[in-house]
Formats: sequence, structure tokens, C-alpha cells
Amino acid sequence: TFISFEGPDGAGKTSALKAITAALTPQLGDRLTVTREPGGNPISESIRAIILDRANTAMDYRTEALLYAAARRQHLAETILPALKAGNLVLCDRYVDSSVAYQGAGRQIGEAAVAQMNEFATDGLLPALTIYFDVPAEVGLQRIQDHRDPQKVDRLDVEKTAFHDRVRAAYLRLQQAHPDRIKLVDATQTPDQVVTAALALIKHSAGD
Ligand code: C5P
Ligand code: MG
Repeated sequence: TFISFEGPDGAGKTSALKAITAALTPQLGDRLTVTREPGGNPISESIRAIILDRANTAMDYRTEALLYAAARRQHLAETILPALKAGNLVLCDRYVDSSVAYQGAGRQIGEAAVAQMNEFATDGLLPALTIYFDVPAEVGLQRIQDHRDPQKVDRLDVEKTAFHDRVRAAYLRLQQAHPDRIKLVDATQTPDQVVTAALALIKHSAGD
């Protein structure tokens, strides 16, 4: 079963994924694959390095979207598909919905165009379940400021609240358009509540 994790900055997606991994590992052991784009393969890491290196300067937004899609393709081919073939439960931190939200809506190059490009990149492979951690832009941005992740605080100078409002609005549109695949978790809840809600969705989707 393939499950992706999505959400705007500061939604708590990454820490929730850590707790979820800890909760599922005793039962699943190496039948659980937890991964994040670009997924640690050399090709995707190189692509990611280009994106991050140019993020605050002059990278064309379509170039950025194409590079994300290319890194995603390689991660799919090298990590996700083999793990699924082996029958593993695959939990992936970000996938195509991130590009639709960040590049399509955030960068305003068009959600439909980005979705179409990613359909090519993934050969149409979508997760069985996408857990969307929903949080208002101001709440997410405040959490990042509080945690002072220097990399992200830098990015905030460029990507202000309006950008994050567009990202969140796109996620909500995606959730409404694909309610069977994308399930919303209210990420303004306590970390424990968020993890409990996500685990319930995972168990239902991967259920025996
Ligand atoms: O929270 P996470 O580490 O996944 O954040 C990665 C960051 O990379 C996002 O906050 C966003 O700024 C950027 N990103 C993006 N487009 C994507 C995926 C991530 O701009 N498709
Ligand atoms: Mg994160």
C-alpha cells in the first residue's frame, strides 16, 4: 500500500511521520518503507541540490516544477516501486500533490498543467491514501518561526503568507476533488491527536 503525507509548511507532517514510524515499526519491521522525496538516491539528490541552491535566486518556476517532477520520477523508480512490489507499506513524505500546491498554485504556473506533467512523471501512479495535514498559513508560519529552522526562515523572506495561503487553498481544492484518496487531518490539534488520527486512517487503508 502506498500512502503519501502532504501539508503546508509547519503543519507538523515530518514529526508526525516520525511518531507514526515508531508506532508501526514493531508490527511491520522491514515490511515498512518510510521515505521522503528525493529519497536518498544519487540522481534525485543531485536534482534536489540544484533546486535548493537556486531557490532564492533566479530559477524559472517551470524549471523548478520540471526538476521536482524529474526527482520524483527517479525516487518512484528506485525506491517506491520496488518497495511496493515487495509488498511493503510505503509512507512517503510529499508526492505529486506538493507540486500541484507549491508549483501550480504557490508559484502560479497552473495546477492543471503541473498535475498533467506529474501524471507523465509518475505514469499515473497515485497513492491509495494521501493524508493531508491541514493548518492555516499563519499558524504554520508561526510554528516555523518558533522553531527557527534557519533554512526555512530564510525561505520565508521570499515565500510570504500570500504564497502559503495559495498553497493551502490548493490543497483544500485537491482534497475536495479527490475525497476518496485525500483525507484531511486537522493539524492544529495536539501532536498526539494528529498522530492518532493519521494512524487510524493508515490502519483503515492498509487494513488486513
Ligand atoms: O516540510 P518539507 O521539508 O517537506 O518542506 C519542503 C519545502 O520545499 C516546502 O516547504 C516548500 O517550500 C518546498 N517544496 C516545494 N515544492 C515541492 C515540494 C517542496 O516548493 N513540490
Ligand atoms: Mg517538514
